[in-house]
Amino acid sequence: MRKRLTIVYTGDGKGKSTAAFGLLFRAKGHGFRCGVLQFIKSKPEHWGEYKMARSLSIPWENYGCGFTWQQKDSGPTISEVNKGWKRAQEWIESGEFDLIILDELTYPLKEKWINTDSVISYLQSLPEEAPHIVITGRNAPEALISCADTASRIENIHHHFAEKNTAAQKGIEF
Ligand code: ATP
Ligand code: MG
Repeated sequence: MRKRLTIVYTGDGKGKSTAAFGLLFRAKGHGFRCGVLQFIKSKPEHWGEYKMARSLSIPWENYGCGFTWQQKDSGPTISEVNKGWKRAQEWIESGEFDLIILDELTYPLKEKWINTDSVISYLQSLPEEAPHIVITGRNAPEALISCADTASRIENIHHHFAEKNTAAQKGIEF
């Protein structure tokens, strides 16, 4: 019998978003109707995961202006991420999805740009037939972790970026 799940991938190690995309790949193999909403990050056109999603006709929308330490004013980002959360609710309630990834949602929750309690109440109110929800990002609020059916914290042991002059690698980072 199907049980609707909320799954959280958090922690400082590399592999949160790629774990979510791995689930999407698995679910798509069963014909699940999947979608991706990505918070904070913008302009995904050159990323392998976006190109792959497009080739499989998987809806994907971005709500962000890039990471905010690159910006003087967080106002536009706050407005974007709130549009993104509204869009998430539309998708969830549409009946058109079996699995939705909310990639990097934890960042606007941690910054309190989206209210964590209201997200948790919403997730808890969903009926069993609603889509599975996968949330990724560093610093997931503890309350979100507690409410999730499954939560994994990916620990950083080491990362190739720590080596001097190691750039983001095609097919590994993007
Ligand atoms: P990925 O998309 O590779 O699964 P992620 O979702 O776990 O990564 P994010 O916080 O979204 O991690 O950051 C994405 C980018 O930051 C990737 O380019 C990734 O290689 C890099 N990154 C992730 N973890 C670390 C780390 N511990 N040290 C340095 N860079 C990291
Ligand atoms: Mg990520």
